[in-house]
Amino acid sequence: MRIVLLGAPGSGKGTQAKLLVEKYRIPQMSTGDLLRAEVAAGSELGKKAKASMDSGQLVSDEIVLGMIQNRLAKPDAKSGFILDGFPRNIPQAQSLDSMLARLGQPLQLALLVDVDSQVLMKRLTGRRSCGNTGCGAIYNIYFTPPKSPGKCDKCGSGLQHRSDDNEDTVRKRLNVYELQTAPLISYYRAQGKLRTAKGVGAIADIFRNVVDIIEAQIRPLASVMSKIEAGQAAKVAAAKAARPARAGKAAPKPVAAKPAAKPVAKTPAKPVARKPVAKKPVKKPAAKAKKKPVKKAAPKKKAKPAKKAKPKKAK
Ligand code: AMP
Repeated sequence: MRIVLLGAPGSGKGTQAKLLVEKYRIPQMSTGDLLRAEVAAGSELGKKAKASMDSGQLVSDEIVLGMIQNRLAKPDAKSGFILDGFPRNIPQAQSLDSMLARLGQPLQLALLVDVDSQVLMKRLTGRRSCGNTGCGAIYNIYFTPPKSPGKCDKCGSGLQHRSDDNEDTVRKRLNVYELQTAPLISYYRAQGKLRTAKGVGAIADIFRNVVDIIEAQIRPLASVMSKIEAGQAAKVAAAKAARPARAGKAAPKPVAAKPAAKPVAKTPAKPVARKPVAKKPVKKPAAKAKKKPVKKAAPKKKAKPAKKAKPKKAK
């Protein structure tokens, strides 16, 4: 399953990506997370990226593409991936298409998590995330606050406020999204890969919709099969419920259906195994037919003596 999650900053695509990781056991690849890890590690790459990140601008394509290329080369990417926050502009999308074409693993779906721009500001400025990277739970002080302020409900670690989630930077990030990232909607629509999920409401409801879209787009056969199976299960249950009254009549039907198909296939095999009964014709043609099927006499001798001799002698 190879998916790009599209959406403005604060649309909740990161949250949906985490739920998808749990459900489908494929890795999430977030360029934002990868960049923040580089910044936290104080690497050269992190130092280069930090200024752009702090000012709400995009980090250079060169840096991001290098990072994604390395990430896609890791073994776990073979089972698929959920790209979150990448691509962020048309050149990145084109480079991604080329990379995936080289790997023979084209993208299957670009899923847009659609949220009104007015909602986004509160979502971003109110966002807090668990500092324990193994947990990664996300809260919002306006909409989904933790039980104790500043503490993660799940693991008790301190909550963090991203440095670029302040109002000024958020405004710039939303502008950058409109100018550079939103054109990807048309890009993927033109490829027939775009689907849209409303990103407002309960997280579980949004997720249900996201999964429905994925099942319909990427796993249509699996979803059709599960519906057929559900239908068959319902019929079997209904038939069972009806049986007690007609227990005597229901039993003979399956028994009659099976013998009709099997004996036809078994009878020709049995007489051949009892060759010693048929002295001349049966022994030789049968042996020849197995070893030298290409030779001239084989087809005639096989068909005639086998069919005629067996039933007569057996009877
Ligand atoms: P995110 O966590 O996805 O909101 O990303 C945080 C910041 O990282 C963005 O505001 C950008 O500065 C940078 N960033 C993340 N992904 C990309 C990308 N694909 N291209 C360029 N910059 C990125």
